Amino acid sequence: MAEQRDFDVIVIGAGLGGLLSAAQFLRRGQRVVVVERLAHPGGRFTAKTFQGAQVSTGAVHMLPFGTNGELAGMLRALGMPHRIHDSEVFASFHVRGKQYVCQSLAQLLGVLGPRQFGELVRLGGPIFLGKPTPEERTMSFAAWLERRMSRARSPELYAYFERLAHFALSVDLTDITYPEVCEITKNMLRYGPPGIVDGGCAALTGELERRVTEGGGELRLLHDVLAIEHDGAAVRGVRVRDKQSGDETLLCAPLVISNIGPQMTKTLTGMSAPADAPTVAISDGGVGHRRHEASGLKVHLLSDVSIIPHKGIMYCLDTERIAGIVQPSNSDRRLAPPGKHLLITHQILRSDDMNAEREAARADLRRLFGEAFGTKIRILTMSQYRGEWPVNRVAQGEDVTPGTDLAGLYLVGDAVKPSGYLMVEGVAQSVNSLLDLLDGPQAGSARPAHTPRKPPRARALHWLVRPPTPHAGA
Ligand SMILES: Cc1cc2nc3c(=O)[nH]c(=O)nc-3n(C[C@H](O)[C@H](O)[C@H](O)COP(=O)(O)OP(=O)(O)OC[C@H]3O[C@@H](n4cnc5c(N)ncnc54)[C@H](O)[C@@H]3O)c2cc1C
Repeated sequence: MAEQRDFDVIVIGAGLGGLLSAAQFLRRGQRVVVVERLAHPGGRFTAKTFQGAQVSTGAVHMLPFGTNGELAGMLRALGMPHRIHDSEVFASFHVRGKQYVCQSLAQLLGVLGPRQFGELVRLGGPIFLGKPTPEERTMSFAAWLERRMSRARSPELYAYFERLAHFALSVDLTDITYPEVCEITKNMLRYGPPGIVDGGCAALTGELERRVTEGGGELRLLHDVLAIEHDGAAVRGVRVRDKQSGDETLLCAPLVISNIGPQMTKTLTGMSAPADAPTVAISDGGVGHRRHEASGLKVHLLSDVSIIPHKGIMYCLDTERIAGIVQPSNSDRRLAPPGKHLLITHQILRSDDMNAEREAARADLRRLFGEAFGTKIRILTMSQYRGEWPVNRVAQGEDVTPGTDLAGLYLVGDAVKPSGYLMVEGVAQSVNSLLDLLDGPQAGSARPAHTPRKPPRARALHWLVRPPTPHAGA
């Protein structure tokens, strides 16, 4: 018979969502075990040293809302040391063979020219201030745009929207609703610029791992959760297998937090066959379709020369596939070997033909860097993300809540991100939502106890016109 151990909380998966949850429950004095199938914690938010560079398992070392974001807020609340290097610019844009650095939205005038910039201002009104009509609530952003602008007449403006979605959400404009774009835009502007975490994502999840183990939590690496045990109404624990010895253990707890997404969690309960994909209606000019998964291809490059003169994102407006590039070594030199610069590109996958996808990325790199590509700038790694290791377990805008059909079984992680919260900001918010669900509203008020209020919308005005700040890196 399998060995049996008792805990207060079992966490399945040591990704960022699992580690943050474990740290929260340890702070409450509970006995916590985290079970992770891989040899290292951090999931898609950590990195390995390869040829002296920090090559990430997923994320491009970036926190979407930087120092003001919800992840940073949770790290502060947990008393966890960390440093975030916020972008000092709105973004830069590579188009017509040149990079334009924009401190503010107003400087997009130079990128788009007066006519397309005027269109951006006209579209920005309803995106930022409007309220979607009933018809617009399920409308894809592509369909919404098509009614208001011509892609052929305004290619750079269309590319601006498209590349933001490809880089930040890993979905196409047909796979995200207009209301979700509104929520994201408001959040991106009111929270502030993205930031690169000091030491890269491995430093952040490494610190969380220390917090969990030093706080008395048990971290079982190289252990697979084989099944979630329950009586049909409430969860009892999980059955795990040590991948090295093959030994099985029954871990019992009244609370099981799953960091592995709704599909895999459901499979482990054995309650019903998992749906083949989340079904969410999205309309494209009246025709409903099933969303594509959030998938992507990422290239790590080492460069002898600095390409991006700031800490933010360079969006690429006239490439075939590559949506954007960051140069995280501008924020922390240790992310690249001495004398080199680390660049990371990201693009969505448009087909199942990986050779074609990779070749399209190489063609873009030749287009962007000319003769320097292959001489001064070389590819370190190229990897695609989909299936069990996607960019997002549930595409942006699909509404999954932490609660499940089983009492005591909850979900955290990027599958449970609330509307408007990107990637790891959504992971932190999923943990806040879980705590809200468990603790109920604040005493004497209807407000949730843990999910913080959003910064005021007026803060977004900050991005309209900003004074220039000195560039870093270069
Ligand atoms: C290419 C790419 C670029 C990205 N860029 C960024 C970025 O710059 N900024 C950003 O904020 N986000 C980014 N993201 C998204 C971000 O990485 C994820 O949202 C985040 O890391 C997800 O964390 P999580 O805890 O939800 O899940 P995960 O990190 O996936 O953690 C789940 C863990 O569960 C483990 N597990 C699975 N099944 C089992 C089992 N049966 N038993 C035990 N363990 C199991 C897995 O091994 C994994 O460690 C990017 C993602 C990708 C792929």
